[in-house]
Amino acid sequence: MTQPRREASTSQEPAAKAASIVVRLAELGARYDAAPLFPAESIRCLASAGLHRDFAPAAGGGTGFIDTSARYFALMDVLRIVGRADLSLGRLYEGHVNALALFEWYASPAQMARLKRELENGAFYGVWVTEPSPGVTISIDGKGRHVLDGGKSFASGAGGLACALVTAQPPAGERRLVIVPANDESRVDMSPWRVRGMRATNSGHYDLTGLRVEENDLLGLPGDYDRDPRFTAGAWRFIAVQLGGIEALLAETRSAMSTAARGDPMQRARFADCIAAARTAYLWVRESARRAARCDTSGGEDHDMDAAAFVRMARGIVERAALDVLELSARIVGTRSAMDGERIDKISRDLSLYLRQAGPDYARDEAARAWLDRDVWGDGDALW
Ligand SMILES: Cc1cc2nc3c(=O)[nH]c(=O)nc-3n(C[C@H](O)[C@H](O)[C@H](O)COP(=O)(O)OP(=O)(O)OC[C@H]3O[C@@H](n4cnc5c(N)ncnc54)[C@H](O)[C@@H]3O)c2cc1C
Repeated sequence: MTQPRREASTSQEPAAKAASIVVRLAELGARYDAAPLFPAESIRCLASAGLHRDFAPAAGGGTGFIDTSARYFALMDVLRIVGRADLSLGRLYEGHVNALALFEWYASPAQMARLKRELENGAFYGVWVTEPSPGVTISIDGKGRHVLDGGKSFASGAGGLACALVTAQPPAGERRLVIVPANDESRVDMSPWRVRGMRATNSGHYDLTGLRVEENDLLGLPGDYDRDPRFTAGAWRFIAVQLGGIEALLAETRSAMSTAARGDPMQRARFADCIAAARTAYLWVRESARRAARCDTSGGEDHDMDAAAFVRMARGIVERAALDVLELSARIVGTRSAMDGERIDKISRDLSLYLRQAGPDYARDEAARAWLDRDVWGDGDALW
């Protein structure tokens, strides 16, 4: 196995910390892929480096970046570095930082204090939205208490994470977020999670039926989770993790490229196409992070509604880049790219599954509609 390159240290401290553990995370990732269990040791490694708290709100024990753009760029680098090491861990970490953002935007002071305590204990969170029909509902029992019914599918980290934010439908109005324990193994069904990649995400089914929740477990107001542009622009985080996978695949392809292949103009042209795809993805993800940061500074109400359209377009560009590099790397490296135990095989399996995110056609179509209306890239230099 070739090791992912250790990153040069940067002025952004969290990225430097992630870079210092990337080799260890890659080794652990190979182990958890071979024997898929919740990657507890990888999670501990992130927590020991303090990366579970770096992007928490200041009142929740976070480092408290002063500049929002700097925070988003630092987060982008951490997401891609963790994704480069192990896409499964990147998925789990992305869920955690998504939860931290939701706390930052919607938590009460009591919930913030609770987050702080949990993070001090090394807790990791998930965000579970996907659900089999009819979905998770909140009802009020005879004593006026809130009770959940239903379960979540694709619940990454089910049984291993400390807590999750789940969406649930109240008797009336829009769905809302509920803070639930995620580590009750009696509620976990991992049998649907038999997959060729992303195995260590443990994205099984988690049953919430009968779980009683208090007022303090209800995060924000009904409809807050789906509030745009934050909701749609938030996809910038998972494309940053996917970018890490593309970059890892590119690095593996280069190191596995034989002398014969390096001497062949056709193979070199394929390698050039890989570089162009990976760096194109990088530029779109970076711009997506910048646009998403602008939603944050404005309170997420109205400023840069185009961030959502921009990130929707970026999703398709990153997907295309990943599919191109997957095909080209197999053509450059040959059968070794599919051999058990080869890092390039693990990255290819993980990436091909992780690309299957919700509603890709809808995202691209909405982006095209927005661009037909105006130049969404625009930003003072609109083409029309
Ligand atoms: C590794 C991994 C981890 C995940 N972790 C989480 C998690 O922690 N929390 C969470 O909430 N979710 C999670 N998910 C779920 C994820 O967010 C998506 O919901 C899921 O991947 C979509 O699966 P699907 O492609 O089967 O979707 P489906 O929506 O079932 O789509 C299946 C196919 O039908 C097509 N399709 C769907 N709707 C339409 C339509 N209206 N018109 C035309 N075509 C359509 C899609 O393009 C797709 O090709 C995870 C997924 C993966 C792969």
